[in-house]
Amino acid sequence: MQVLCQKSNSSEGADKISCSICGQAFQIFWERSSQTERAAQMETVMAAIAEHHQGNDSHRAHPHTGFLVPGWSGLTKFSAAALLGGAQSWSI
Ligand SMILES: [Zn+2]
Repeated sequence: MQVLCQKSNSSEGADKISCSICGQAFQIFWERSSQTERAAQMETVMAAIAEHHQGNDSHRAHPHTGFLVPGWSGLTKFSAAALLGGAQSWSI
Protein backbone atom coordinates (compact mmCIF):
# COMPACT_ATOMS: atom_id res chain seq x y z
CA MET A 1 0.00 0.00 0.00
CA GLN A 2 1.21 3.44 -0.83
CA VAL A 3 0.31 6.87 0.52
CA LEU A 4 0.75 10.36 -0.81
CA CYS A 5 1.76 13.13 1.59
CA GLN A 6 1.36 16.78 0.78
CA LYS A 7 2.39 19.74 2.91
CA SER A 8 -0.52 21.29 4.74
CA ASN A 9 -0.86 24.59 6.59
CA SER A 10 -2.78 23.00 9.43
CA SER A 11 -2.47 19.76 11.35
CA GLU A 12 -6.18 19.85 12.20
CA GLY A 13 -8.64 17.61 10.37
CA ALA A 14 -8.85 14.09 9.08
CA ASP A 15 -5.79 12.23 7.82
CA LYS A 16 -3.29 14.83 8.96
CA ILE A 17 0.09 14.08 10.40
CA SER A 18 2.84 16.28 11.79
CA CYS A 19 6.58 15.87 11.39
CA SER A 20 8.15 14.81 14.70
CA ILE A 21 11.18 17.02 14.02
CA CYS A 22 9.94 20.35 12.65
CA GLY A 23 6.19 20.04 13.20
CA GLN A 24 5.33 20.55 9.53
CA ALA A 25 1.79 19.27 8.91
CA PHE A 26 0.96 16.93 6.06
CA GLN A 27 -2.26 15.80 4.49
CA ILE A 28 -2.23 12.08 3.79
CA PHE A 29 -4.00 10.50 0.82
CA TRP A 30 -4.49 6.77 1.28
CA GLU A 31 -5.09 4.11 -1.27
CA ARG A 32 -8.21 2.15 -0.44
CA SER A 33 -7.42 0.51 2.89
CA SER A 34 -8.82 -0.45 6.26
CA GLN A 35 -8.34 1.48 9.51
CA THR A 36 -6.00 -1.29 10.70
CA GLU A 37 -3.82 -0.99 7.60
CA ARG A 38 -3.70 2.76 7.94
CA ALA A 39 -2.67 2.55 11.59
CA ALA A 40 0.11 0.13 10.68
CA GLN A 41 1.29 2.35 7.84
CA MET A 42 1.34 5.48 9.98
CA GLU A 43 4.65 4.53 11.59
CA THR A 44 6.28 4.06 8.17
CA VAL A 45 4.98 7.43 7.06
CA MET A 46 6.30 9.14 10.21
CA ALA A 47 9.73 7.53 9.66
CA ALA A 48 9.80 8.60 6.00
CA ILE A 49 8.93 12.18 6.97
CA ALA A 50 11.68 12.26 9.62
CA GLU A 51 14.17 10.87 7.08
CA HIS A 52 13.90 14.02 4.98
CA HIS A 53 15.78 15.98 7.60
CA GLN A 54 19.15 14.25 7.63
CA GLY A 55 20.67 16.81 9.99
CA ASN A 56 18.60 19.74 8.71
CA ASP A 57 15.84 20.55 11.18
CA SER A 58 14.12 23.18 9.03
CA HIS A 59 10.69 22.44 7.58
CA ARG A 60 12.28 23.21 4.19
CA ALA A 61 13.90 19.76 4.36
CA HIS A 62 10.62 18.32 3.09
CA PRO A 63 9.81 18.08 -0.63
CA HIS A 64 7.99 21.18 -1.77
CA THR A 65 5.30 19.41 -3.76
CA GLY A 66 4.68 16.17 -1.94
CA PHE A 67 5.97 12.64 -1.81
CA LEU A 68 4.93 9.03 -1.81
CA VAL A 69 5.57 6.48 0.93
CA PRO A 70 7.09 4.10 0.19
CA GLY A 71 8.97 5.91 -2.55
CA TRP A 72 7.69 5.46 -6.07
CA SER A 73 10.19 5.14 -8.89
CA GLY A 74 7.64 5.07 -11.71
CA LEU A 75 5.45 7.74 -13.19
CA THR A 76 3.04 9.25 -10.70
CA LYS A 77 0.15 8.63 -13.08
CA PHE A 78 0.53 4.92 -12.32
CA SER A 79 0.31 5.36 -8.57
CA ALA A 80 -3.19 5.09 -7.12
CA ALA A 81 -2.23 7.17 -4.09
CA ALA A 82 -0.84 9.93 -6.29
CA LEU A 83 -3.99 9.92 -8.40
CA LEU A 84 -6.12 10.28 -5.28
CA GLY A 85 -4.11 13.28 -4.23
CA GLY A 86 -4.25 14.85 -7.67
CA ALA A 87 -0.49 14.62 -7.92
CA GLN A 88 -0.17 13.21 -11.42
CA SER A 89 0.78 16.60 -12.78
CA TRP A 90 4.09 16.75 -10.96
CA SER A 91 6.96 14.35 -10.83
CA ILE A 92 8.49 13.05 -7.65
ZN1 LIG B 1 10.03 18.00 9.35
